[in-house]
Formats: sequence, structure tokens, C-alpha cells
Amino acid sequence: MELDDEEYRTFVEGRDGSLFENETTIPEEWNNCAMDELTVNDGHDSNWVYNQLEIKRGQLFHDKVHLQHAVKKWAFSLKKPFKVVISNPSTYDVKCLSPGCPWQVHAYLPKGESNFVASIIVDHLCKLSGTVVKHKNMTAEFVANVLYGEIMKKSSMSPFQIMLAISNRYTYEISYDMPWRAKQKALEWRFGTVQGLIPPPPTPPRIAAS
Ligand SMILES: [Zn+2]
Repeated sequence: MELDDEEYRTFVEGRDGSLFENETTIPEEWNNCAMDELTVNDGHDSNWVYNQLEIKRGQLFHDKVHLQHAVKKWAFSLKKPFKVVISNPSTYDVKCLSPGCPWQVHAYLPKGESNFVASIIVDHLCKLSGTVVKHKNMTAEFVANVLYGEIMKKSSMSPFQIMLAISNRYTYEISYDMPWRAKQKALEWRFGTVQGLIPPPPTPPRIAAS
């Protein structure tokens, strides 16, 4: 967790603090689907795939934040934790935590381009070790991204409801303080009270008429 937070700050303070720079890619129903179901439709490039879990060689990502989110989702679905080997403004490289397993995702930002591309993908050879209840790569940022819309719609959402929502979607338990931090992050994104730390929010969610 510390690693992820540190890593997160490192790049957010750098050039990558532009999670939703291109707001034209944010679907109108953002407040219902959040980043998880974000499908980029630029009409001609099949390398833009956000609605599948597995990352393919050649797949493009708007930026490092989206790439990291995709890596996490994949790792959560496989129930296999990973370690970050390289994380800098132009390269992101992760490997399986299991000794000897060759699993790897390597992506980079080509010179003069604005999108990350996954260039090396190696499959797992490790075996699942029992039931995984917690995943070391789960972070408050991830939770905030996944539940952003729900938290915005329902500001009274309790930590327990957030824990339950993550458990339902990813089958993982999260620590009790994580929902608080996730909620805080989502609100900070929404209201922009934290400068320089968090990428700007997507288009403001519409408040349902009551
Ligand atoms: Zn592995």
C-alpha cells in the first residue's frame, strides 16, 4: 500500500497528473459506470480497449493512470499480486510477486506521443495459492475511481457500504480505513480542494433530480 501511494504521488506530481485530461473520452453516464466500464470510442482504433480485463500487447492507454488502473483490475481478476519494477513518467513495468513466475506487463510512452502502449505481456506460470481475501495492490485511489460515481450520488455512503461494494465486485476485503480515504479522495477530486496531488475530476456527475 505504501509503495502504491508513494508511486502514485511520484507520478501525479510529474507529468502524469492528467487522469481525465481529455474529457471527450468520458462517457455521459460516467456517474454510473466510472472508469471501470470506460470504453473509449474514437471510431477507428481497435487498440483502445477498456472493457476487457486482460491487457494485450499493443493496447493503448490514455495515460499512466489509466494503464495502472487496468493493470490492477487484471491483477485483481487473476487474484495475483504484482510488484512495480519500473515506474517513471515514460515507463511502467510490473511483474508477478510469485518467485520464478514470468508474468509481466511492460508499457511505455513513445517519444512525442501522449498515450502509453503495452509492449511486453507475459502470462503467469504460477499457481493460485488458496483463497485470496486481500490483495496487496488494492489502494484507496483504486476504490475511489471504481466507486466515484456512487460516492458522488450518495455522499452518505458508509465505509461499510464501500467495503461491501468492493467485496461484491472484486471479492476482496479492504481495510476499514480504506473506504474513508477513498471517499476523501473522491470528494477531493470532485471539489478540487487538494492541489497538485490528485488528477482533475472527470465531468462533474449530475445530481439526480429529486
Ligand atoms: Zn504469476
